[in-house]
Amino acid sequence: MAYRQLTVGTVPDYLQGVPEVMEHLGGASSLTVQEVGDGNLNFVYIVSNAENPAQSVVLKQAVPFLRVVGESWPLPKERMRIEIKALAKETELCPQHVPQVYHASEEMCLVVMQNLAEHGVLRGRMIQGDVFPRLADHVSTFLAQNLFHTSDLFLDHRTKKEQVAAFVNVDLCKITEDFVFTNPYEQHETNVYNPELSDADLAFVHEDRDLKIAVAEMKYAFMNNAQALLHGDLHTGSIMAGAEETYMIDPEFAFYGPMGFDVGAIIANVLMSYFSHEFWLPQKGQDPTPVRTWHLQCVEEIWGGFAQKFDALWKAHVESQEGHLYWDYPQGEAHFQAQRERFLHHVLVDTLGFAACKMMRRILGLAKVADIADIADLKARAEIERKVLTLGKELVVNRGRFENIQEVTAMARNLSPLEGR
Ligand code: ADP
Ligand code: MG
Repeated sequence: MAYRQLTVGTVPDYLQGVPEVMEHLGGASSLTVQEVGDGNLNFVYIVSNAENPAQSVVLKQAVPFLRVVGESWPLPKERMRIEIKALAKETELCPQHVPQVYHASEEMCLVVMQNLAEHGVLRGRMIQGDVFPRLADHVSTFLAQNLFHTSDLFLDHRTKKEQVAAFVNVDLCKITEDFVFTNPYEQHETNVYNPELSDADLAFVHEDRDLKIAVAEMKYAFMNNAQALLHGDLHTGSIMAGAEETYMIDPEFAFYGPMGFDVGAIIANVLMSYFSHEFWLPQKGQDPTPVRTWHLQCVEEIWGGFAQKFDALWKAHVESQEGHLYWDYPQGEAHFQAQRERFLHHVLVDTLGFAACKMMRRILGLAKVADIADIADLKARAEIERKVLTLGKELVVNRGRFENIQEVTAMARNLSPLEGR
């Protein structure tokens, strides 16, 4: 079937021809279609049985341009091929945290999946001040399962290289290379600044030699270290969560890259939520301490949970490989443990460097996070933005000096005390 862009009007006709989807819609003769408009890149529709709205699915279709900008910004719709393949791989490795896919078409550049609308997007719920006690456990499981099982630590040499090739994602990686690692660190026309940031605030980033070198190193690592299949865009807008369940959506940026990029992305976004609640909760007359305590605990548990689970998968895998243990001498086990610790320390260093870039670009670059950019009091917003930039600079420049994640959360607490201002 040749590609055509669907609309609210044509979605029902298309789905009527897809029996495996109609099964989830109760075989309805009449479907209700609603466009949910908060995506930047693609079109997403919620489709329900008109007689029984409890039966519903979500259809996501890529169009050959960037949706927020319009047809003047072409972006190959083939990105959906990557999203379909990444969803399938994640489903194989960690099905409990991935939306169920009912139908996918590379020709039509679309996927039809489980409707998660009852959960809501994590970013919005975190802005409201909701906490998610199971989030860190779930996210760290997702990270450990995917990153370990797509790496050379698990796959055979041939499969790994074939997977690297299958997930080459030139156009979406270029977006990250430009908007996460380049433009925000220079005076670039695509940047957008809070007018309350001073020239000195901008120079703090734009004219700092050590910071610019460090960011350039992170960009090079992003482009060259094909360690594992990444989600590639794991911010709080790519997670839909309830109290008990957590789903990672939207892996169109998936590619083989450095593990710390995914871990750093989510940690950066939780940290930005932490800083933003210096404003939001007190403004509502609430004591921010309990929620902000959870933010920092969440950061610690995402890293800690990931490291512990990744380590356990690796150890169990090596021990299951009969005859391939090159640690079969008296101190072997301790030496293997030291190898794992060093490996995970390197991932931590990368995680902090990438988290820093993910934070700084949200302050100085084109794409903002609502957590901070929606603060209408621009002076209060600038105060928070300066703290994010300060932490970002510290993390990226000195990323090699951090011994553990607690040093990071302590620094956040120092910059912005738990109880707010
Ligand atoms: P984009 O790639 O364009 O950013 P997303 O995959 O992030 O698109 O989806 C955009 C929005 O659509 C999400 O923020 C969410 O509100 C909604 N959405 C996406 N997938 C689902 C789903 N499976 N269930 C319910 N809502 C969804
Ligand atoms: Mg997206």
